[in-house]
Amino acid sequence: IPTVGVLALQGDVREHVAALTAAGARPLPVRRPAELAVVDGLVLPGGESTTMEKLLRAFDLFDPLRERIAEGLPVYGSCAGMILLADRVAGATADQTTLGGIDMTVRRNAFGRQVDSHEQYLTAPALGAGEGQPPLHAVFIRAPWVEQVGEDVEVLARAAAPAGGGADGKIVAVRQGRLLATAFHPEIGGEMRVHRLFVEMVSDARLPSTQQLTS
Ligand code: GLN
Repeated sequence: IPTVGVLALQGDVREHVAALTAAGARPLPVRRPAELAVVDGLVLPGGESTTMEKLLRAFDLFDPLRERIAEGLPVYGSCAGMILLADRVAGATADQTTLGGIDMTVRRNAFGRQVDSHEQYLTAPALGAGEGQPPLHAVFIRAPWVEQVGEDVEVLARAAAPAGGGADGKIVAVRQGRLLATAFHPEIGGEMRVHRLFVEMVSDARLPSTQQLTS
């Protein structure tokens, strides 16, 4: 079974660990380069993206993680994690940099301020929430949304309700290759389908080396 790390510098690590376990992975909290080196995939939890960037650098994880992403490490970023995976941040402070990897522009705190945190039920066929299936439970906490995507980016979900004004139809879940990102927190409230898809992505990414071993 795949070992999936959860970046454990900030954010709701425990909830992601629980969701990954339920989705059939072996979770591993990651704080050190040696831990990053042994995971088959990594979850970037929510938090505060500029703080997480600083912590990543302080713990000597920023450059190694960038390298592993470039080598094809599957990574799932939620909320602040989505921002870290974005190639571009709209309205970012001049010194905010990201890991990047997904050809998209995100806007931080797009849904409004803390008091505007809310939940929605989304239709998302690629996440197992299509017609005839239960809608996806999505908790938004000072969430970003995606303003623009490149042509290699698959849009997995859009905001449903016009929450906080003008959010209707905004992109809130994307995938590009082995990178997955959601503006919301599926780990809160027991929504399992995003973690299940991610564990599948991690397992698929491991296949080539397994085949090499057996051939
Ligand atoms: N607002 C945070 C940021 O801009 C993200 C919030 C979250 O991760 N829940 O980084």
